[in-house]
Amino acid sequence: MKKYFSIITMLLFLSNCKSQSLNSTAEIDSQIKSSKPKLIVGIVVDQMRYDYLNRFYNKYSEGGFKKLMTKGYMINNAHFSFSATKTAVGHSSIYTGTTPVNHGILANDWYDKSSKKYINCVGDTRYKTIGTSSDKGQKSPYRLQTTTISDQLHLAQNMKGKVIGMSSKDRGAILPVGHTADAAYWYDGGNHGKFISSTYYLENLPKWVVDFNNSGKVENYINTPWNTYYDITTYTESIEDNNVYEQTLKGEKTPTFPHNIPELRNKNDNYSIITETPFGNSLLTDFAIASINAEQLGKSSFTDFLSISYSSTDYIGHGYGVVSKEIQDTYIRLDKDIERLITHLDSTVGKENYTLFLTADHGATHVPQYLIDNSIPANYFDKNKFKAFVKEVTLNKFGTEKLIENISNNTIYFDKKELNQLKIDQGIVQQIIADEIINYDGIYKTVTARTLQTTNFTEGILSHIQNSYNQKLSGDVLYAYELSTISNWYENKGGTTHGSGYNYNTHVPLLFYGKGIKNGASNSYYRIIDIAPTISTLLGIEFPNGNTGTVITEVLK
Ligand SMILES: [Zn+2]
Repeated sequence: MKKYFSIITMLLFLSNCKSQSLNSTAEIDSQIKSSKPKLIVGIVVDQMRYDYLNRFYNKYSEGGFKKLMTKGYMINNAHFSFSATKTAVGHSSIYTGTTPVNHGILANDWYDKSSKKYINCVGDTRYKTIGTSSDKGQKSPYRLQTTTISDQLHLAQNMKGKVIGMSSKDRGAILPVGHTADAAYWYDGGNHGKFISSTYYLENLPKWVVDFNNSGKVENYINTPWNTYYDITTYTESIEDNNVYEQTLKGEKTPTFPHNIPELRNKNDNYSIITETPFGNSLLTDFAIASINAEQLGKSSFTDFLSISYSSTDYIGHGYGVVSKEIQDTYIRLDKDIERLITHLDSTVGKENYTLFLTADHGATHVPQYLIDNSIPANYFDKNKFKAFVKEVTLNKFGTEKLIENISNNTIYFDKKELNQLKIDQGIVQQIIADEIINYDGIYKTVTARTLQTTNFTEGILSHIQNSYNQKLSGDVLYAYELSTISNWYENKGGTTHGSGYNYNTHVPLLFYGKGIKNGASNSYYRIIDIAPTISTLLGIEFPNGNTGTVITEVLK
């Protein structure tokens, strides 16, 4: 029986090799010479669920999402393979081809065991803001412990070729383009309304960025009320506009269209309000087009790299939820922006010269109350009550509350001094806590650091927790909530979030398009960490140094 299986395995292996092999020296020669795109464009849509591609398909125009879906290669089952489905982690994993195990970005902010403080994924006070007088530019990628695709591209080209990252969010701009980027730009709202950067990259903003900031575009966008792009009565793919599962902007009475942005801006941190509307994505598209023109991307003999991360989708998803009219309108409008971007790339860089991929940094949970009201199990988890419970457990079991140093990001951190005083093996203390907290309402799984160090989980939620676990940085006991349970919510239980290892947070779109990409679609399971080695292979360069993904061979010509 065993032999029979190994013969089958061998045959499968051989047939696999054959399908991937190239036929002749001439073919290899011509492929190497002609296959390199002049520009790679990576697009991340913050909080885009996979099903938004299909849900709103009939409302998309021919040149945006639909074009990527029908003319490019569509992966229908692309998933994050870890539980920390948050913005910083998602972006890092897409571009490094690995998970927090190796790249070390555990969350957006996390508890640092050595300094005993919370740290930000891109916070770095060694650098200064350029572009405004605020501290929003004191950022760098130094906490990212591995290289990105664009770092490898730079190394392969002796640091030639331009690499630029941009987003409304600092982490969405910085992490994708790694350590060697020429520039990363993000949006400083408040009373500024400008794209800024950090002295990590540049001494001053380039003229084109200063000109863009002075162009009055932000002002124009936020002087317009947000109404639906098409007649709202045609938005049959979402629930009624006025529903109880949404938040309102500050100063609004109902969560309904039209959202009077010019009137509401002063109550919503002035220029920051644009990020709460689809116009934040339009502004970033304008900025991307300006950068393609000014930096002459895709025009030199080296391959350039442009990373664009759209964030308004995330703010709007958090506020209004998965099935709102606002989220539908946001995707209809983002589709127009993507169409505008593709049209511009086609006319300036040339259809045959660039390769584009589009994915998301995580999905989103349905608003739990919406599920509850429709008889689907869901829940809200009160973190403060849970903290009190854990302290009570340690008091009962070990006679001290001080054992618990911190609880955050679904992790319990022990105070190492207190632990040593117990004179009990660390693994045993971890297991006793894990065995107790599993009884707490809303907790689905608990697992100790010791188990994660000694057991290899290959599927399910425990494998996703394991892929989020970094032995040097993570804590002592890790846990997952029950399905459709969230811990961050607004007062009225409207709005939603993400951050679990379940399908609704891990399943995201993955589209490849352009030079070197086949036309087609696949229902096979792939991991998001497979994007980086796939793009690296397309470019004929080394994988990011911590890569644990595998090449998606079926998308490549
Ligand atoms: Zn995000």
